[in-house]
Amino acid sequence: MRHSASHVMAEAVLSLFPDVKFGIGPAIEDGFYYDFDLPRTLTPDDLPVIEEKMREIIKADLPFSHREITRAEARKLFASQPYKLELIKEIPDEKLGIYEQGKFVDLCRGPHVNSTGEIKAFKLSNIAGAYWRGNERFPMLQRIYGTAFNTQKELDEHETLIEEAKKRDHRKLGKELDLFLTPEEIGGGLVIYTPRGGRIRTVVEDFWRQEHFANGYEILYTPHIGLSNLWQTSGHLDFYQENMYSPITIDEQEYYLKPMNCPFHMLAYKSQIRSYRDLPLRWAELGTVYRYERSGVLLGLLRVRGFTQDDAHIICTPEQVNSELSEVLRFSLHMWQAFGFHKYKVYLSTKPEKSIGTKKMWQDAENALRTVIDENKLDYEVDEGGGAFYGPKIDLKIEDALGREWQMTTIQFDFNLPERFDMVYIGADGQEHRPYMIHRALLGAWERFFGLLIEHYAGAFPVWLAPVQVKIIPIADRHIEHARKIEKKMKSRGVRAEVDDRSERMNLKIRQAQLIKIPYMLVIGDKEIADNYVSVRRRNGEQLPAQPLADFLKMLTKEIADKV
Ligand SMILES: [Zn+2]
Ligand SMILES: [Zn+2]
Repeated sequence: MRHSASHVMAEAVLSLFPDVKFGIGPAIEDGFYYDFDLPRTLTPDDLPVIEEKMREIIKADLPFSHREITRAEARKLFASQPYKLELIKEIPDEKLGIYEQGKFVDLCRGPHVNSTGEIKAFKLSNIAGAYWRGNERFPMLQRIYGTAFNTQKELDEHETLIEEAKKRDHRKLGKELDLFLTPEEIGGGLVIYTPRGGRIRTVVEDFWRQEHFANGYEILYTPHIGLSNLWQTSGHLDFYQENMYSPITIDEQEYYLKPMNCPFHMLAYKSQIRSYRDLPLRWAELGTVYRYERSGVLLGLLRVRGFTQDDAHIICTPEQVNSELSEVLRFSLHMWQAFGFHKYKVYLSTKPEKSIGTKKMWQDAENALRTVIDENKLDYEVDEGGGAFYGPKIDLKIEDALGREWQMTTIQFDFNLPERFDMVYIGADGQEHRPYMIHRALLGAWERFFGLLIEHYAGAFPVWLAPVQVKIIPIADRHIEHARKIEKKMKSRGVRAEVDDRSERMNLKIRQAQLIKIPYMLVIGDKEIADNYVSVRRRNGEQLPAQPLADFLKMLTKEIADKV
């Protein structure tokens, strides 16, 4: 139905702009789009006009008819459509499928609904520029996005969700709450964290380190660049170079910015003779990597060029691999729960066509992954052939407060690097054996994780993560001194408190603190000083009973410790 709606939109645009040149118009999640080359730039005012035309076409209940034509016929039929001609050139088949409804005909495999009347509830949502074939070297077309659902109710629910998502957009909140910047001056996809964003990151990293140490990991630090030979050995220059930046020449040798941390960890492994008694080794790193992404796909914190992975490599014996995988999955779920996420979906990606390692290695690894998923009673889907060439993997998609899925955790087998780096351990038999290796990024990348956190909580972070936990608001200047004493006491207890000592009205200070979603506000006036009490407000406007500072601190520190 959605794909059919895109054809109907194309017919509506054709009736309004007879000279339109058509790009492509597929169905997408929740909707559809079509790319057009038009004589003028569309404005949002055009959308209702196009919608009206679409309604006419839907009301006319025109049948979608399918035909197969020869290549020569297709070239003739689409003679005035250069983009379609380009597509025709690339289709190897002798017979080409077309779909026709009303006055519109498209080169298309379908399928479609029987007639336009079957399109129920739709809406055109927005217009965006889109390069032909997604490539900056080709012309920029105008893309109209729409949504379509079986009922008006479903469409309305979808619209509400989109509105809510807009309010939570991490780019918008990032500015309003002063959390991070992506200034044009430093180049696309590079992020600066402001003090408030930096606070949150520090809290997350401290927690992350503490949990990793408590769960049997050690932490490595490795450089940002490495010699070309290293990336040759690891295979990155052969298989991954299009994602890497051009080399930097130092002393006539070429260095590359690291796209991954793995090779450094492999070298650390090889720095000593390892015995089976040393295994498993669980080595983690908050490693900042750089990968090339096309400028057109960069998006806030979600698609960036420089990011910090919360990486780990687990090196173990073949006998340990099942229990290690199980442990990685358990630990991942434990971490996600701590950040307030309780719904996950698992995707298992299996052997692709081009791959290394024996059939048995793949089968064993895939079975091991299935076993741990089952043990944890998780729902999963299989992505047949979706694994990397070096091993199968599981990905965890995390569901946020709006029910959207975010791909975050990835746990990957690697048959490749232990070979390439000739990693060995001495077994109980005194012989050299090849260890197994698992790569794991738990939160994924800090940037993407921060984007998820911001949108999940709509910027109202739980107290333990909030960059400022308590705003102390003196009513008049004479109350500032007392407010400072309270601030000092709170800071000494590890609470992130701040006095608002501006000569503004109390109500304005409260409103501003609420707007930037500070969890607690303490208002200090004559009465509070005389009684030695604090008046406490929550960011939702709820007023708590006046209480001694010690009582408030007790409640607050418990809330922080409980991570609620
Ligand atoms: Zn089509
Ligand atoms: Zn790795």
